[in-house]
Amino acid sequence: MTIDTIKKTIHYLMTDILFPSFCSICGKIISNNDFGVCSQCKRMIYMDVKNYTCDYIFKVEEKIHGKRKWFLDDGVWLFKYERPVTKLIYAMKFKHNKSIAMLFAQYCIDAINKMEWHFDYITYIPVTKDRLLKRGFNQSEVMARHIGKMYNKDVLNLLYIKNEKAAQKKLSGNERFINTYQKYETIQNSGDIIDKSVLIVDDVYTTGATINECARLLKKNGVQHVYASIVAYAMLKEMIL
Ligand SMILES: [Zn+2]
Repeated sequence: MTIDTIKKTIHYLMTDILFPSFCSICGKIISNNDFGVCSQCKRMIYMDVKNYTCDYIFKVEEKIHGKRKWFLDDGVWLFKYERPVTKLIYAMKFKHNKSIAMLFAQYCIDAINKMEWHFDYITYIPVTKDRLLKRGFNQSEVMARHIGKMYNKDVLNLLYIKNEKAAQKKLSGNERFINTYQKYETIQNSGDIIDKSVLIVDDVYTTGATINECARLLKKNGVQHVYASIVAYAMLKEMIL
């Protein structure tokens, strides 16, 4: 055992003893290296990747929400929005469990590897300042940075929320689209994204309003191809199975 390995082992043991973690699904005590889920529960997590070039998914969307213009080119949707994934998303968003974002990033990487996509940059869906303050981190940014490290790609902060008024989940599908239209904006000086391809990382897909609007803004600023990696899909699950 090298000195480095011993140091690492001591560090892990100390953090596990002083700051133990608990499985977000069953509550069992786990190591800090387990990304928020015990090995038994991890076996219950089934990745059910949907990859659609947007021709297909948008036809499905239009059946639900009516005709729209779509800006996303390719996407992977990893999990159905149901237990135990919903429990993990809850822990990540409302229990400040950053490890879950790292876990989801791993799943994103698995899915992206299968797709053999080639993107230049990575970005993420922003959250409101209020949420950022309450949560302490933006879960999509944490995922994006982890994915960026893996692919050795820069993670750019390209989008922000200019209209922080209504909480999206209280709105109906159509209201979301209207509200989303002026909710986001691109951060200036993003010149080097012209003619590039960008991967957007997002946690939950409901109506597609957010991801589509962010893709629209990126394209308006010269991005050529927009990919999306989305952890869970809620509204579409009955339609696309
Ligand atoms: Zn567990």
